Amino acid sequence: MSALDDELAQGIAAAKLGQRDVARQHLQNVLRTDPRHETAWLWMSGLVDTPAQKRDCLQRVLALNPGNEMARRGMEQMAQSEAASFLSVFEPRTPPPAPVVIAPPPLSETPEAVIISEPLPIGIADVPQPSQLPAGAAPSAAPALDLPPPSKITDAPCVFCGAPTGMDGICDTCGIEQIFDCPLCSHPLDLRERKVCECGQSMLPFLVSGGVDHNKLGDEYQKRDYPGAAVKQWKAALATSPKPSQLHRKIAEVYLDLGMIEQSRQHNELSKQK
Ligand SMILES: [Zn+2]
Ligand SMILES: [Zn+2]
Repeated sequence: MSALDDELAQGIAAAKLGQRDVARQHLQNVLRTDPRHETAWLWMSGLVDTPAQKRDCLQRVLALNPGNEMARRGMEQMAQSEAASFLSVFEPRTPPPAPVVIAPPPLSETPEAVIISEPLPIGIADVPQPSQLPAGAAPSAAPALDLPPPSKITDAPCVFCGAPTGMDGICDTCGIEQIFDCPLCSHPLDLRERKVCECGQSMLPFLVSGGVDHNKLGDEYQKRDYPGAAVKQWKAALATSPKPSQLHRKIAEVYLDLGMIEQSRQHNELSKQK
């Protein structure tokens, strides 16, 4: 089970919750590591801004796997919606009422893709097309990405071991993360700054001496419907858990909910091991 699966799970979970920006960020992280990730491109196709970007994503999926049924259907739907939009130009206009005024132009069909206003951070158009690459070659250049701004805090002491920490929010000394999404409102909460979120949610119930109660925090995320974050915490709990099979079972259930069948199966297997 890799960090890539974590990112993918968080991306899919966010997409299902309609958190498009969050979802795109996670999927971009996946695609930066693995530009040939079929599932990530497929989910990204539902999150991009324009029909052209959507088509680009779907074409990538089909280039990687011509048998991908979802991508094929997506392309067909796009073709249909474009045809309908094109044909609507020729629909007879309703007769203008008297006195004669200029009738407004017919509205084009609602595009199939949801258009959202912010610019897409990923330079999808800049990524080399699979068709432009030599056969069998993986795209060497990862997409240019706008990474989130690093935390303001540098050299602030680790909440858990007191050693100076860097910008990435993970303590190099004890390895424990310092920044968590608030389980209530999902805003990032830097424990070096504060342990109670602006929304009132305290992180103290999840902090134990020398670390984080990853199992308890994971349960809280799951209760609040942040399955991707829950899986991440449960995986962190695996390292020290006396009951790893319970954790694997919970992880398997979330993966199943997210449609990540293979990952779910793997954790189901692991949950049966003693
Ligand atoms: Zn530390
Ligand atoms: Zn909060």
